[in-house]
Formats: sequence, C-alpha cells, structure tokens
Amino acid sequence: MPVSDSTHASQAVAFDPQKIRFVLARTSHPGNIGAAARAIRTMGFARLALVAPHKFPHADATAMAAGADDVLDSVVVVPTLTEAIADCSLVFGCTARRRGVSLPEIAPREGAMRAHAHAGEIAVVFGNERTGLENEELMRCHYAVHIPADPTYSSLNLAQAVQVLAYELRLAQIQALPAAASEPKSDPPATVEQMEHFFGHLFQTLDDIDFHKGRSPTTIEQRLRRLFAHANLDQREVRILRGIFDDAQRMARAAKERG
Ligand code: SAH
Repeated sequence: MPVSDSTHASQAVAFDPQKIRFVLARTSHPGNIGAAARAIRTMGFARLALVAPHKFPHADATAMAAGADDVLDSVVVVPTLTEAIADCSLVFGCTARRRGVSLPEIAPREGAMRAHAHAGEIAVVFGNERTGLENEELMRCHYAVHIPADPTYSSLNLAQAVQVLAYELRLAQIQALPAAASEPKSDPPATVEQMEHFFGHLFQTLDDIDFHKGRSPTTIEQRLRRLFAHANLDQREVRILRGIFDDAQRMARAAKERG
C-alpha cells in the first residue's frame, strides 16, 4: 500500500515499496534490463533507474519485460550513479565478489531488514554484467550486499541477482520482520547528496587545519568515509558537525592572520 507522504515517523514506519529504487549501472545487455523490470514488478516494486545503459530503449528489453511495461515506461535514465541516488539515505551496492573497498558486507536478508527499518529513500545498486560495480561506485554505498553463492562460481546473472534482492525485500515486507537495531531518531537521515557536501567540508577543513602535513590525504579520506557511513548520521547531526568544521576553519584563518 503506497503511502504518498514522506513523514519520518521513527516508530513502526509503514513499509512503502515506492521508497525503494533499483539502480542498474552501465548495463550492457538490454535483455537484462527487461528481465530486471519483470523481477522487481513481480515482487511489488516499480522504480527502476538506469545509469548510462549501453542500449536503451531496446526491443530486447521490452521482450524480456514480458508485460512489466509499466516499470519500463517509468524508467529513469541518468548519466551518473551520484545522480541516481542523490536523495537516498540508505544505499546497498550488490557485489558478486569482495572488492578492495572496506564496506560492511551483508547478505540480502539483513539488507532487507535494514531497508524495512529505514524511514528515508533507499537504493539497491547493481553493476555491469562483466565488470560489476567500480570501487568509486561502491564508495557511494552504505553496505555491500553479497548473495552467498558458491564461492567457486559466485556471479549470478544480473537480473537474477535483482530477483533475489527484490524477493528478500518482499519477504521482509510480508513477514514484517522485526526492525533491525536501527536507532529511533527524530531527524530524517542524511541523504547521499548531503553526505557528499559533508565530506567536501570535512576534507577542506582537514586541509585548512594542516592535518595532512604533506602526506597524501587519500587513505585517511577513505577511512573517514567508511567511519561516517557506519554512523548513519541524521540531518541534525550533519548540521552540528558542519558547525564544528566552520569554527575550526575560522580559528585556522585567525591563526594564519596572526602569523
Ligand atoms: N564479473 C562481475 C559480475 C557482475 S554480475 C563481477 O565479478 O563483479 C552483474 C551484477 O549482478 C553485479 O555487479 C552485482 O550487482 C550482481 N550480482 C551478481 N552476483 C551477485 C552476488 N553473488 N551477490 C550480489 N550481487 C550479485
């Protein structure tokens, strides 16, 4: 039962399939797009976003959608992952194998429970058929979701991976699984876009206070991204931290002016 208003009641959030979007990044085969549309439609979902698909629209997509035309008709096509998930506050990146990115790795069932307990917009992101998700893309996600397949042959067909995730999300909805230990917060969770501004501010502040002292900032920036991804900041917490950064920047400027 879709709920049109997006209030962030912290208790017993009605699970709204509309708050979940499935995002396919750089899909090569249009048939997989159609099959993914069918997969999400059968599980009661409707929102599909495509990041720079190689071929779309395409007859193979329509054929494989097998009647899930409403999903295909309302597909959103965007050039970058950042645009596809800008307003989301919980993002799952689905990976067939472990990457160098140190994200918490969970199975679809835990992901579905977390989605169920979450009040804001949610994205479930899938990679290209051959190359999967790039590290840059995974770094935009809060969790890496891995379907615990046979480790010697763990890569599912893209649309079948979409089906597994959609099924688990559906199951969580039907069974109303107990909410994962998600904090009842009164402020809406920070969105990806707000977190990107937050990180920009944080990294600039580190520069201003000469935190790096000539060392490369890359490693520490990755660690800080990871740390704050775990923290699941709400919008008020982001404002408080950015207030602290403002003050630190002001002090650094004053110290510089004093020489
Ligand atoms: N060769 C690629 C496989 C890509 S399969 C790789 O090793 O990454 C296409 C997409 O399907 C993946 O990017 C992922 O989003 C999803 N997928 C396939 N198998 C999966 C699995 N076992 N767990 C989670 N997602 C999977």
